[in-house]
Amino acid sequence: MTAVVGAQWGDEGKGKITDYLAQQADVVIRYQGGSNAGHTVVNDKGAFKLHLVPSGVFNPDALCILGPGMVVELPFLVEELDALEKAGVPTANVRVSDRAHLVLPYHLALDRLDERERGRQKLGTTGRGNGPAYSDKVGRHGIQVYEVRDEKRFRERVAHELETKNAILERFGDEPLDARAVADEVLAAAARLGGRIVDTLPLVEHALATDARVLLEGQLGAMRDLDWGIYPYVTSSNPLAGGATIGAGIPPRVITRVIGVVKAYSTAVGEGPFPTELHGSDADDLRERGQEYGATTGRPRRVGWFDAVAPRHAHRLNAFTELAVTKLDMLGRYERIPFCTSYEIDGTTTTDMPPTHVLDRVVPRYEQLPGWGSDISGITDRALLPTAAKGYLRRIEETVGAPVGIVGVGPERTATLL
Ligand code: GDP
Repeated sequence: MTAVVGAQWGDEGKGKITDYLAQQADVVIRYQGGSNAGHTVVNDKGAFKLHLVPSGVFNPDALCILGPGMVVELPFLVEELDALEKAGVPTANVRVSDRAHLVLPYHLALDRLDERERGRQKLGTTGRGNGPAYSDKVGRHGIQVYEVRDEKRFRERVAHELETKNAILERFGDEPLDARAVADEVLAAAARLGGRIVDTLPLVEHALATDARVLLEGQLGAMRDLDWGIYPYVTSSNPLAGGATIGAGIPPRVITRVIGVVKAYSTAVGEGPFPTELHGSDADDLRERGQEYGATTGRPRRVGWFDAVAPRHAHRLNAFTELAVTKLDMLGRYERIPFCTSYEIDGTTTTDMPPTHVLDRVVPRYEQLPGWGSDISGITDRALLPTAAKGYLRRIEETVGAPVGIVGVGPERTATLL
């Protein structure tokens, strides 16, 4: 069983790697997050940005599960499935866990309110209501997907929750929501999903019993993990492979392969410390070259040089069996490439990840690695990479501590070297 996990700040290219590996998978499970994800997949069917649906959907023979650890906005899921069908991608293989939590319209309203009231301390969320939905889950106010099956009770639950939610919205000058309209919208979407809403545990159990090839797809990366990331600038769930056991319903000892996806440089969307961040024209140059704009929000991503401390931190928590390095092709034109190997904090050098407010004042220590000065996007054999590109990958292996098993040299499924 394989988990595909982000090893940086998110947007590492997990969608592409999952799509690639899903061609050989029987089951693909998203285990956390919600529609705040934006997994980009480019293959023979076209270019797609998947928010809720697992990136295995392009293999019609793979069962694709939205796991119980996810938060799901049902109308948004219906739209995403419709768009895929319209693009010629069959979605009959998609299932939603009945234990996942619902993202309801009031979560979206509360997400916007929360960001606005935080002012300068805003988190930079995608505004998709995921944080408030997870808050409700932890606070024992959440509504699980299966609850739509009992319409009368569901309407009562929504009306009850809205009493306090509306009081908060009105207190901060926002419009209250109508319980009937909220329930109608969700129930209509649930009716469209019909038999896709299931208890996914028997499916997973069957997959394990038959030695099916299971792929676990994470969202965001270790630096945004609720427990091990740059709190509070984190997501409300656990992207780490450990989160996959709970969020997909997988016994921990059956995950045998953990792939850490790392971009060949660093990017981040949202707020929080980002030690190797570039500014000015250097940043604009890398952003344009890498087309670093958020897949969900379209926001320009913050960009910086490779920071080995972050994926090393991720490796300590995930024990990667291998790394998948994406976007190596984007560094083709640099003569020398700054590569951060450690941090200096108050005169001391470390390769350990400090807590958030210390991370804010670290000074990254760089090596200057030789560039390869050529376009590698057409290369189809890893052995044919320029010597300097191989050296760059070797330095990633040495500093992170895990071998590089997969290299991405383009966004397409085919631009993948083993
Ligand atoms: P995810 O959320 O981790 O799936 O990552 P995103 O989809 O948000 O961002 C990754 C971006 O990099 C997408 O636009 C991908 O199409 C693109 N991408 C992934 N791997 C490669 C690669 O090896 N080379 C290039 N040029 N682009 C890549």
